[in-house]
Amino acid sequence: MTEKLHIVCPHCHTTNRIAAAQLGGEAHCGSCHQPLVTGRPVPLDDASFVRHVGRSQLPVVVDFWAPWCGPCRMMAPAFEQAAGTLKTQAQFAKLDTQAHPQAAAPFHIRSIPTMVVFREGRELGRISGALPASEIVRWVQSVI
Ligand code: ZN
Repeated sequence: MTEKLHIVCPHCHTTNRIAAAQLGGEAHCGSCHQPLVTGRPVPLDDASFVRHVGRSQLPVVVDFWAPWCGPCRMMAPAFEQAAGTLKTQAQFAKLDTQAHPQAAAPFHIRSIPTMVVFREGRELGRISGALPASEIVRWVQSVI
């Protein structure tokens, strides 16, 4: 029997059910037909945040950030690099806490950047402060 996972499309945010083994290959969204695994952080808004965080059985690493935050902007390339390294193990995502404060409010984010890992609505871990790519990868692997 093959393990099936609910994966939320990073393009149209439809929930797909795919075999875990397909994650490393060419899995495409049944709705918009774009690749489900991109290795790139997906920008979220209020609605897509709820879908990814609540439904994805692939861990979702959310970077809570804001445009005015210097350390957040500095960490962005490292976050993108980590997203590529871990593309079959986690979906990386970004939530702009200035544009979407309602989505962030329930999580009581006290400082940014803060990264939180979720799976099916449960918080697996969080860490605050900007990190280099290698430390983001190590931290995510330690909590998933
Ligand atoms: Zn799609």
